[in-house]
Amino acid sequence: MLRFDKTQREKIWNQTIMAVENYLEQVPYLPVAAKWNVEQIRAVVETIDFSEKKSPDEAISFAVEALRKFQVHTSHPLYLGRFNPASTTLGIAADALTAAFNPQLAAWSYSPFAVEIENHLVKSFGQKFGYPSDETDGTFTSGGAEANHTALICALTHYFPDFRENGLRSLPAQPTIYVSAESHHSIIKAARFCGIGTNALREIPTNSAWQIDVDSLQNQIAKDRQAGFAPLMVVATAGTTSVGIIDRLAEIAAVARQENIWYHVDAAWGGAVRLVPEFSVHLDGIEAADSITFDAHKWLSIPMGAGIFLTRHSRILSQTCSVSTGYMPKEAEKLDVIDPFAHSLQWSRRFIGLKVFLSLAVAGWDGYAEMIREAIKVGDYLRQRLENEGWNVINRTPLPVICFTDGIGLKNPMPEYLEQIADYIVASGQSWISITKISPGFSVLRACITNFQTKPEDADLLVETLNDARDRQRAANIINPKCLV
Ligand SMILES: *Cc1c(COP(=O)(O)O)cnc(C)c1O
Repeated sequence: MLRFDKTQREKIWNQTIMAVENYLEQVPYLPVAAKWNVEQIRAVVETIDFSEKKSPDEAISFAVEALRKFQVHTSHPLYLGRFNPASTTLGIAADALTAAFNPQLAAWSYSPFAVEIENHLVKSFGQKFGYPSDETDGTFTSGGAEANHTALICALTHYFPDFRENGLRSLPAQPTIYVSAESHHSIIKAARFCGIGTNALREIPTNSAWQIDVDSLQNQIAKDRQAGFAPLMVVATAGTTSVGIIDRLAEIAAVARQENIWYHVDAAWGGAVRLVPEFSVHLDGIEAADSITFDAHKWLSIPMGAGIFLTRHSRILSQTCSVSTGYMPKEAEKLDVIDPFAHSLQWSRRFIGLKVFLSLAVAGWDGYAEMIREAIKVGDYLRQRLENEGWNVINRTPLPVICFTDGIGLKNPMPEYLEQIADYIVASGQSWISITKISPGFSVLRACITNFQTKPEDADLLVETLNDARDRQRAANIINPKCLV
């Protein structure tokens, strides 16, 4: 039964709204992550085999209950994990509106308002990154991975005009891509999907601050040219996933310009600091980028997925993605507009921009700047508290990602010990942090402020739990006492 009358629909909406509201109210009191296992979850899922019809009430209650039980509550203020947002209120509303109106973002003529809103946002974000508005182009993507993939295809199309028709086999030499061990691994997939292969990736060593070592980058490009490769693209990161480091953007921009290769900046998470006047300087050099990845579903707290690919090559997306068909609407051909399907990797596409538009329209640039400023402040506070309590903070970044060990130095990171600490934190249900591996291959604890509701008191709570974990582990003699000096 797919048809419901007005009364039935109202019941469904009310139930849904109450479920949303209750969840938002209750999430700070839920364990950030509970204990569960595969069998238990499958047993719950398989109770519904679609042979018997459920009422909407039963079906929705089932989903809400299971979502509450079986997920890491990234909306919790003490979820200090990866770059996962607590959704903005307007973002939640926008996603519901988008589902209801279901605008088709393949053809401009079907959804002109939606397409123009997205274009407006692309230009506005482009300007924040320093692009001139008449050169800015871009498209909304499912996320950063699709944006990085789009960047690579654009670079190939730009430097190898034959690529579009004759493919990789027409290329005069094997293209190479320059990344670091700290770059996001979606580039690996992009290399694979583009048919270049992962051996085309050159992992440039990082300096002691985990930034791409610019001299090594230059040397590697020279070496590759000499060996007959075709250096194509360098990927700099503004806010690396593990350590939150910003690469030396202006220097990498200069190398890319001199070498005539595509300069892509992956600013999926860290790009947000460009919205804060006093922190914007940390991303100087991004304005020279041929393309930028920015995820509104990370620091801007837009519900997933809301990625943005930006480029200052205003025709490259059309060159890369345009196709003509007999069945798609033709109105756009007579107007000064571009059909999204001819401008993106996707075809039928949901209105990703509405959740960004409504959130930004209500918060304003200032509201977002204030939120990011606060997160940075809480991050600085947490860093300070950890150091005061004898934890060893190992990264220096203006962004609120704190990587730390137990004051025992980098040479002796003892991954099992750190894992036990992280497990203790996660098992407490009270907060959530992760372990990450950073080059050259040691483990650290990692806490990141990703939630616009996280306060300094939350950082205090985390430090308390961390200290408890440390005391317990030390008392249990789980670690070699020689490492504790
Ligand atoms: C998260 C992230 C990505 C991948 O983005 P998705 O939105 O998960 O597809 C790429 N690069 C960086 C630096 C990231 O933090």
